[in-house]
Amino acid sequence: MQRYGLDFWGDDNFFIKDGLVKLNYLSSPSLYNIVSDIRKDGLKGPIILRFPHLVKKQIDKIFSEFSRAFTELDYGGKFSAVYPLKVNQNPNLLNSILEASNSYEYGLEAGSKAELLIAMASLNNNSPLTVNGFKDKELISLGFLSANMGQNITLTIEGINELETIIEMAKEYTVLPKIGLRIRLHSLGVGLWAKSGGINSKFGLSATELITAMELLKKHSLIEKFTMIHFHIGSQITSISPLKKALREVGNIYADLIKMGAINLNTINLGGGLVVEYGQNIKSKVANYSLNEYANDIVFMLQSISKDKKVKEANIMIESGRFVTASHAVLVAPVYELFSHDYQENLLKLKDKNPPLVDELKELYDYIEPSNALEFLHDSLDHLNSLLTLFDLGYIDIYDRSNSEILTHLIIQKAIFLLDDMNSNELLKIENQIQEKYLVNFSIFQSLPDFWGLKQTFPVMPLSKLDKKPTRSASLWDITCDSDGEISFDKKNPLYLHNIDVKKEDYFLGFFLVGAYQEVLGMKHNLFEKPTEVSVYIDDKGYKLKDMIESNSIYTTLNSLGYDVKKLKNKLKNNIKNSNDFKKLNELFKDNSYLRTFINQEEK
Ligand SMILES: *Cc1c(COP(=O)(O)O)cnc(C)c1O
Repeated sequence: MQRYGLDFWGDDNFFIKDGLVKLNYLSSPSLYNIVSDIRKDGLKGPIILRFPHLVKKQIDKIFSEFSRAFTELDYGGKFSAVYPLKVNQNPNLLNSILEASNSYEYGLEAGSKAELLIAMASLNNNSPLTVNGFKDKELISLGFLSANMGQNITLTIEGINELETIIEMAKEYTVLPKIGLRIRLHSLGVGLWAKSGGINSKFGLSATELITAMELLKKHSLIEKFTMIHFHIGSQITSISPLKKALREVGNIYADLIKMGAINLNTINLGGGLVVEYGQNIKSKVANYSLNEYANDIVFMLQSISKDKKVKEANIMIESGRFVTASHAVLVAPVYELFSHDYQENLLKLKDKNPPLVDELKELYDYIEPSNALEFLHDSLDHLNSLLTLFDLGYIDIYDRSNSEILTHLIIQKAIFLLDDMNSNELLKIENQIQEKYLVNFSIFQSLPDFWGLKQTFPVMPLSKLDKKPTRSASLWDITCDSDGEISFDKKNPLYLHNIDVKKEDYFLGFFLVGAYQEVLGMKHNLFEKPTEVSVYIDDKGYKLKDMIESNSIYTTLNSLGYDVKKLKNKLKNNIKNSNDFKKLNELFKDNSYLRTFINQEEK
């Protein structure tokens, strides 16, 4: 049976049973049932499901692996971590993170004033709070405020001018935030986000600037506040060797800065980048390391540099975000329509005397079996081509043409059903001609922006029928009217779906691992709003749905674009009133819940 690569990307979070995808946790509810449950009150659009237990699982994993590595290597430092808010600032997710972090030294990383305000309002005083990114005076003064509220905050400076602002402000306060220095590495970053590292990186202090910073810190008696150095080589690190290279560089900087008089420098913050396995049709995982190795390598390397350079072993902090949140969210979108659904056997209108090629197609359809399936499939595609040419030349009529198209589609479906190896080269070669378009109720721009912008793929699978062989090679079309709103069939990443009649049954697609970056990058292309979202708390008896945030109303959407919605509504109402057949239109108005809701909605 088709498993949609679950063994690669699933991380044991899901399993397939009775044809359904189920959560591998306590009562093991199926995604299909959860979604049907949520939709029973009439909700029609896409839904984001959040699973708090999967957030906790990732945080637990990080802390237990580092704790194990520290013990095994008898490492002297402490371990802590922060969640970078930019990865996904969703309030319900943040609650899960804060809840899961209670038993650890786990805090937040903020990269802007808005994120810092969120962190300042949510964190308790012991949890670490780090601030990266460019900092103006207002942001720095928020940092001072946080320190004076008693929070454990470190401002990581990216440039000397930021340090100068801190020095100015420090003259007026007795309680100061801790200071971190971001290092500009000469080791190159990796992956799509390589700009985060490297000597021409957008971020961090060069060796020369580090010396200047040390001099300034000493001169203004702030050296005691300098506790951390920081770097970040990029997101989605698939190979551990660039990280090791960077660590060697940073470990030596750490030791040198201590020797230069950084008496309280005790922490190395390695940034984020832990990899998430998104691949669905792969032979092996994209990452060449596990979390276990990641922790071992980091601890081992920093320990040996400390030994060589005779400095105290550093506390280790990491800022991985993608790894923590990607798996917790699943986007579920219903299939609206299969484009070729008109090609049904009962629509055939065969004549008493058909063109010979049509009769041949009928025979291929009647006699196709496993041993001849591929050959018959090829023949049928050839016949169809010839028949279409005959039509263009006026030799056959529109009934013959319709019959040819129906028969060819029926043969395609049957052939794929009969063939064992759906990914055979032969089949993949003609896949373009035989694919089915699935119209899916969601917006790629809103919900999978990295698919559109960075060509990143996400695992997709149907939530039901997993005990039946899928027979259609699928391309997915979203309901925006943009031709980029398509996930086309890709030979390297083929997706097969079931042949269903959506008038008779619901068929949902799950897009997995969408919990990092996608939600906040989403765009309102065609004015599609964020999907409705629900947190699903699973227990040993069943599950509870909580924290539902409904999709924004059309009123809010138009309002946020700067429309005078009241005026817009009045004009529309007037136009309806002054139209020809007001009575008839009034009925239509009552029937159309979308229009009715819009007109009746008030500004909140
Ligand atoms: C984006 C970012 C992170 C998080 O990276 P992930 O790949 O999501 O782990 C961590 N630190 C800094 C400085 C970042 O810019």
